[in-house]
Amino acid sequence: MKKDAEPLSTTGHSVFDQIFKLKPGMTVLVADETFSEGYAFLKALLKKRWYSVVEVVSARYLQAGAGQAVVSTEGLQDLSIHVNQRRRQEKGKILLHTYLPELLVRHNPDEVLKLFEIWQKDVSMSKTVEFYLIPKNTFTDFEKKARAIVDSVIDLSVVRHDSQFVYYMMPIRGCDPQFHLKNIRYEIIHDKLLVEWNGVLVDELPEGMLSIESIKKMLESKEDRLLLTLGDVRPDLMPLSDYVVLTGLEGSRLSTFKSLYPDVWPEIEEKLAGWIASGAVKIVEAEPEPSGNVRSRLRLKSRLLLMVPTGLALRLVLIPRIFLRKKVQTVPLEAHLAVLEAMRRVIEYASAKRPDFLADARAATYYFGQLSARKTALEYVRRLEGSNPGKFEARHVPKLVALTLKAGWGLDVSFTASTKNSLVFDVKKCHLCEGVSSDSPFCDKFVSGVVVGVLSVCLKTKVDCFEITCRAMGADRCSFKATIL
Ligand SMILES: [Zn+2]
Repeated sequence: MKKDAEPLSTTGHSVFDQIFKLKPGMTVLVADETFSEGYAFLKALLKKRWYSVVEVVSARYLQAGAGQAVVSTEGLQDLSIHVNQRRRQEKGKILLHTYLPELLVRHNPDEVLKLFEIWQKDVSMSKTVEFYLIPKNTFTDFEKKARAIVDSVIDLSVVRHDSQFVYYMMPIRGCDPQFHLKNIRYEIIHDKLLVEWNGVLVDELPEGMLSIESIKKMLESKEDRLLLTLGDVRPDLMPLSDYVVLTGLEGSRLSTFKSLYPDVWPEIEEKLAGWIASGAVKIVEAEPEPSGNVRSRLRLKSRLLLMVPTGLALRLVLIPRIFLRKKVQTVPLEAHLAVLEAMRRVIEYASAKRPDFLADARAATYYFGQLSARKTALEYVRRLEGSNPGKFEARHVPKLVALTLKAGWGLDVSFTASTKNSLVFDVKKCHLCEGVSSDSPFCDKFVSGVVVGVLSVCLKTKVDCFEITCRAMGADRCSFKATIL
């Protein structure tokens, strides 16, 4: 099921189109090793679209073939006029620029860069898709800067394994984020481009595989009936933040998963569709959940909880049955802190051997903290409010933050400055950074992710939180700022 409606948002190669997101008005630099792989790659890639490809070639080739446009590289201004004429004639088509080395030998590379920069706008206006071919490491200074100017880069490399050549393409920007900077194997056999998909070289997506758009439509139409489970997960192919979201969906209903990410649902839905397409997530149809009435106001119980002082509210929430009918399962704080202490040792040990491990561990703490806050918040909200919760408002934010940090980390907070959309709070006697000294905010990863998680779920909007000052960095207190975006 290929989508053919808008010819230039796809290359016609179903595997490549899952990886790379072609857009009308886009420029792509294709850098290769011997100034031959790039052309061969594009020729095989665009095979089904070749009728809309215009090769822009140097006048050095005396005879232009079909689908070729000859330009003179002698003067930059003349070149620009010719190419722009062509762009206007070939609106919406694909232009392949093959004369760069010649141009760079003849002209000052900075002047060529300037021309490229100006062309960016012309390309976006004519809605063409334009590929510039360049040999790698030849015009190094130009290449480095050009990579930053264009919308996307495809880096091609050839590696010799025993007596065999292995080809790789690496998309940089303009692709599905999980493939950004990843080396993806490819091969051209009898004009057919085979691209690595789930570890196998294929020229078409496996049978039964749906496009992202059709998966999204299906998700939307069956929201309350689909159960999500993990399939073939490849942590090495995705950023940590995605990995946390992905592993957090195991066994949940699509509607629940959506309630976990009300603030960023369009992005998450797009990712989910990609995971389903690649087999990382599997879906099963189940009976729909009984739905309640949609209310605009919070229930009396919730409103009461948000009115009384934090200490009392916390005791009410933690008393089983009275407020929540059933106690939400939480890990006792002491146990939690003991695990944390052990983890700190593990991280110290591991990062002594692998320095970049520390950054990963810090990010993991932040993302997993955020996920567990989202889950706990949703669980509490559902117990209090039923399956169709009323709306929390900005004025409830301080109470939500105080309850969360007390229940989650045993921290007491005081609010020092707040505006309509932001809130500054200090943690009293922060035990998280007790005896720690650090050159970056230490408590941020524990507190901010949790605050973002709870507020996003309750307010259903994007929230940001960061640590302003931290005792681990020598400040007299740990202070945070949360902003409702
Ligand atoms: Zn602290």
